[in-house]
Amino acid sequence: MKRIILVRYGEIILKGLNRPVFEDKLIGNIRSAILKSGNARIFKSQGRIYIEPQEENYDFDFVLQKITRIFGVVSVSPVWKIDTDYDQIKATALKVASDLVVQYGYKTFKLETKRGNKKFPMQSPEISADLGGYILENIPGLTVDVKNPDFTVHLEVRESSYVYSDIIKAHGGMPMGSNGKATLLLSGGIDSPVAGWMMGKRGVEIEAVHFYSYPYTSERAKQKVVDLAQILSQYCGKFKLHVVPFTEIQLAINDNCPEDQLTIIMRRIMMRIAEIIARKTNSMALITGESMGQVASQTMQSLYCTDSAVNMPVFRPLIGMDKVEVIDIARKIDTFETSILPYEDCCTVFVAKHPQTKPKLEKIMKSEAAVDFEPLIERAVEATEVIVLKP
Ligand code: ATP
Ligand code: MG
Repeated sequence: MKRIILVRYGEIILKGLNRPVFEDKLIGNIRSAILKSGNARIFKSQGRIYIEPQEENYDFDFVLQKITRIFGVVSVSPVWKIDTDYDQIKATALKVASDLVVQYGYKTFKLETKRGNKKFPMQSPEISADLGGYILENIPGLTVDVKNPDFTVHLEVRESSYVYSDIIKAHGGMPMGSNGKATLLLSGGIDSPVAGWMMGKRGVEIEAVHFYSYPYTSERAKQKVVDLAQILSQYCGKFKLHVVPFTEIQLAINDNCPEDQLTIIMRRIMMRIAEIIARKTNSMALITGESMGQVASQTMQSLYCTDSAVNMPVFRPLIGMDKVEVIDIARKIDTFETSILPYEDCCTVFVAKHPQTKPKLEKIMKSEAAVDFEPLIERAVEATEVIVLKP
């Protein structure tokens, strides 16, 4: 009887002939995420991944926590692996049930059997009935409730057999690195970390860019962005955050462009710089946390103007989401508490009282012509600080 970890994955199974490529990528990502937890054998079999510790003091909690953050993983279970032998199955199922009853005082349970091994002489319903009866006989006070049990004992009969109760949900998606790379415009707000996470969930590797207007925004505001990037790296793996000094550009916009166009021009310059960094780092697209109509710079007309500043696709995974939906995800992925820290952002420092909600591209471009942005952009890119984030 061996304690191991069972990893389930979903969408990859639909990949037909390419499936092994995605599976191997996922296994590689799992392997590097849990490298520090000790020696383990990681392998796939029949649409599942198994992690078998090869040492005594294997850190299961650490591994479970890491694996539930790996994109592509749908759920994980710590399981008991035994031989496909009915006496062993009975003993293990009883142990799993009695451990839970002792620990949590549970009163009701059900048994679920999957029989993948057609050579096993009993069929699933027969196993469930017999094994359930055996557990009931041996744990006084416990009853069966098939609709709403306190716990479920799962049994899978394959070449070996597996017994477990816990199924810990993960986020699903596609394995990181299976869908190219994009550059995330990461502010200290609620939205952009969620946007980066959502693209990461689809297997997109990220690089991040933050625009920093020191001393109008403080060292603490920058640290907040680094902290958010750090949380993201727990899902997206190691990536680079490019911190671009933006003060000179903001002051130039402020001094030379019409007040009601400040935000949109600033957003366009951010996009241009992000695109330069994206090309340098082999990203094929940009990612922002914009959502349709949320603020003046996120109306259809404004987004048209920002998109026109660049020549690569701009992904806005939050475009159709309400703020409450975004906040739900931010809480789920642990960025929310950091995002709501009250430090100022460059967008909030240089802000117009009445920004245009329906900017016209030609007019915006005319206003931009008042500043020679090229050398300013070049200097900002040159002075960019690169911070490496690791999970
Ligand atoms: P967020 O919550 O991500 O800050 P927001 O709804 O507050 O978004 P804005 O502040 O207008 O909206 O920013 C829109 C998008 O522009 C952000 O989601 C982010 O992708 C990008 N962005 C804004 N400010 C910065 C910044 N200082 N550095 C990098 N990207 C930024
Ligand atoms: Mg913001």
